[in-house]
Amino acid sequence: MTKTAVICGGVGAARLLSGLVQVVPGRDLAAIVNVGDDVELHGLHVSPDLDTITYTLAGAVSEERGWGLEGETWKAMEMLGRYGGDDWFSLGDQDLGTHLYRTQRLQNGDSLSVVSAAIATAWGLEFSLLPVTNDRLRTVMTTDQHGDIGFQEYFVRHAHDVAATAVRFEGAPTSQPAPGVLDWLENAERIIIAPSNPVVSVDPVLAVPGVRDLLQRRRRQVIAVSPIIGGKALKGPADRLMKELGGTASSAGVASWYQEVAGTLVLDTIDADDAAAVEALGVRPAITDTIMSTVERSSALADFILALPCSEEAAS
Ligand code: GDP
Ligand code: CA
Repeated sequence: MTKTAVICGGVGAARLLSGLVQVVPGRDLAAIVNVGDDVELHGLHVSPDLDTITYTLAGAVSEERGWGLEGETWKAMEMLGRYGGDDWFSLGDQDLGTHLYRTQRLQNGDSLSVVSAAIATAWGLEFSLLPVTNDRLRTVMTTDQHGDIGFQEYFVRHAHDVAATAVRFEGAPTSQPAPGVLDWLENAERIIIAPSNPVVSVDPVLAVPGVRDLLQRRRRQVIAVSPIIGGKALKGPADRLMKELGGTASSAGVASWYQEVAGTLVLDTIDADDAAAVEALGVRPAITDTIMSTVERSSALADFILALPCSEEAAS
């Protein structure tokens, strides 16, 4: 089996990984995960994208929400509310245990990589789950209405119902890739960019020094999956953000966004008409069903991606 590295945000990436783990042995699979969404709340370090992947691949995620745990209760949040505490970011009672554990170990000097691996192992995950960096990297949104706000304030507190005029990844320029990240990207036969939000999930990963350069150099081995289907994100603000920040909300727009780093774009059957525009950008289009509403559909998409040619000689 060939080594596969996947660049990941949260929900879309977790769905694709659910398919990939059916066909790629754990030792040959690594998820390289965005940490720009991480947030400190109540003194706790919360890593939403890492946890979404862990809970989903453990089969423990809330199917309805796509994040957090199935059967979760919210008593701690109710207690916070009683005191007038900050309760805009929902942390479930069980989920809190994850954040307590992570925070304590980080305070003891362990790295986010080590702690994320320990949490993933405790949930039975067999592949490598790597935060892109162990350093502090935070996505900051510039808005007319609220000025500069942290990603979770934008996404959760304001329900991403506010226009963004700029995005920056605080800490990225001086961050270092976490151990294993560049090795996986260098040695993987395939690098997949999951169908995650290009602006706020994938770009922060690419902003860690060394990552974008490596993908540019290995562009022919990089296969991106479009998170935009029929001009819309399945969920969340990816379509709007792409438009607000100078792109186009379409599969061709995704090809243009990733033009320098991805040689192939997987686009949905619904968007077959975009293939010519994708090709015109120098990106090879590959068309299939990409809506992963069941694990079977995730597996089918994983099979499709793994069957795509991506060797040096196959690329034109
Ligand atoms: P978040 O970090 O949880 O917000 O999620 P991501 O950044 O991983 O992904 C959000 C994006 O994933 C949205 O733009 C969705 O359109 C896309 N997405 C979610 N599920 C699917 C799916 O099954 N197929 C495809 N093609 N895209 C998906
Ligand atoms: Ca996210």
